[in-house]
Amino acid sequence: MRTDLMAEAMCWDLSLNVTADYACANTEFSYFCSHSVCLQEVRPKKIVNAHFFAPGMHVPGCPNEPEKSDGDGTAQKPAKRVSIVAPPAVPTELGPAKSRKGKVRKPTKAELLALSDALEGKPPSCAGTLIEVVNAWRAMPKDQRPEKQLSINDEKFTYESAFYCLSEFGESPIEKLPCATKVIHGLARVDDDETCYWIKSVKTFRADNCKLNLIIRISKDNGMTDKYMKDLLANSLGVTSFTLFYSGDVPKLSGSGKSYGISKDISNDYQRFVVLPN
Ligand SMILES: [Zn+2]
Repeated sequence: MRTDLMAEAMCWDLSLNVTADYACANTEFSYFCSHSVCLQEVRPKKIVNAHFFAPGMHVPGCPNEPEKSDGDGTAQKPAKRVSIVAPPAVPTELGPAKSRKGKVRKPTKAELLALSDALEGKPPSCAGTLIEVVNAWRAMPKDQRPEKQLSINDEKFTYESAFYCLSEFGESPIEKLPCATKVIHGLARVDDDETCYWIKSVKTFRADNCKLNLIIRISKDNGMTDKYMKDLLANSLGVTSFTLFYSGDVPKLSGSGKSYGISKDISNDYQRFVVLPN
């Protein structure tokens, strides 16, 4: 029996253990109690803190069964459970969660039992935006980074191996920059122009007869990224040095030949870049 809120469950659609916070944001998926004695369907709910509840009740004896209050012995009501504010989950995947299997039917007991066995002891998985992943990386003690999993585009890394500092890159051609598979980061400057923001790496990269910066142009036409940059600069008055984090297409030589840039619009629902003041 538990006296606190049920914060983790199995997600049938993703075949992963997930947190209640994740499930509250993804209510289209099916969730189940992961204890092999129970395997009841559970649903996410958020009043103060996100948690799971079992509309059909947990099987008696399931460790997730809520503790009953001491009543008169007849109609027992669940006891008031302790509401614990969980720290933000450390993302185990960069990007939006995908329904990998497109499961549509309800699983059988045997399938749930197999999934429960496969997931036993595994920490909850959750997808995070780049800013959530970067924040988790910064908050994590360095010696823990090699132990924490992080997938990028289905490739498995740790919080140590998934991050690549531009200063390690040396003189290699920019095509070798591992930004399509990892999160690259390095010192940068930010310029506020009339129609756009320019994020310019301090590190320069080899070109034909010169060395060029990596420059990301953020158009002020895009409401979401424009607000992000506006807030960043408003909160960093007087700051001249920033750190750029980027994950996405490899930069290409611009039309003018004066910089390496990212031609594609890099704003999307989980953002390909993060800029932090130093
Ligand atoms: Zn249960």
